[in-house]
Amino acid sequence: MPFDIDARVIENRRLSSDYNVLSLEAPDIAGATEPGQFVMVKPDRGIDPLLRRPFSVFEILRDGGRPVGLSILSKRVGVTTGQIFGAQAGQRVQCLGPLGRAFTLPGPATEVWMVAGGVGLAPFWTVAEALAGRGVTLTLFYGGRGDADLLYLDYFERLGVTLAVCTEDGSRGERGRVTIPLERALAARQAGTDVLVHACGPDPMLAAVARLAARYGCRCEVSVERVMGCGLGGCYSCVVPVKAANGGFHHVRSCISGPIFDAATLVWD
Ligand SMILES: Cc1cc2nc3c(=O)[nH]c(=O)nc-3n(C[C@H](O)[C@H](O)[C@H](O)COP(=O)(O)OP(=O)(O)OC[C@H]3O[C@@H](n4cnc5c(N)ncnc54)[C@H](O)[C@@H]3O)c2cc1C
Repeated sequence: MPFDIDARVIENRRLSSDYNVLSLEAPDIAGATEPGQFVMVKPDRGIDPLLRRPFSVFEILRDGGRPVGLSILSKRVGVTTGQIFGAQAGQRVQCLGPLGRAFTLPGPATEVWMVAGGVGLAPFWTVAEALAGRGVTLTLFYGGRGDADLLYLDYFERLGVTLAVCTEDGSRGERGRVTIPLERALAARQAGTDVLVHACGPDPMLAAVARLAARYGCRCEVSVERVMGCGLGGCYSCVVPVKAANGGFHHVRSCISGPIFDAATLVWD
């Protein structure tokens, strides 16, 4: 059951002119959140925009081990993300969650390869935290346009995550798309190594990752990003096509059937 609260802003960490991390006091939501779930957020009481916007839960904030809040990692692209960028400590933000389905979290017999494009990094803080605690071997394939789009690498390093970093302009790591090192790793995978791929990022990246995983016989879950009106299944604005048993397809609401899907169940073309 999601909680609907007016969360107090604890802190607004501006990481650059586009990215910020907004920490919210939200103990009930934080305590119930599983990795990959999201919250619907509205920082302003006004009518522009009227509706809340979806954001992955980034960090779970704890005090002495007790969940006290959560943060969201936001990229400024429009009105709400502009308000999130400008939010002040002490301000109240409407926050509904946790919502949606979470990533599958396996045990140590399975390696997890996280594939993130840009702000698609957001769900992987909690995934990495949960899986490192279980002794799962983790790799993060992380791509962005340039160096400024790559965030929190030191956090993942501290958890012992192997990093494969790419930028399209070559300013950090390997030049090119994140699918390049991913394909190399899939091709070099030892027989008998069980790998689960988790991916979050723009649609073309997800489609490419899904195809690679299928080609190399690897299970893959993706977090899809659709414009969402309510986050609760009421408005049908976030539908995605999924394969049907008769060879055709039908649509499901990504807010309640997702945002995490088994990549093999989605229609990609
Ligand atoms: C499950 C889920 C989790 C998400 N997690 C994050 C996150 O952790 N961090 C983050 O920065 N963003 C995340 N997003 C995307 C975020 O919801 C949008 O960036 C946000 O809705 C933009 O709101 P706005 O009012 O700032 O932009 P608007 O002013 O509404 O729109 C600005 C531009 O962005 C486009 N746009 C708006 N929403 C989306 C969308 N969902 N997909 C593609 N284009 C869009 C619009 O068409 C327009 O061109 C997530 C989306 C989903 C569905």
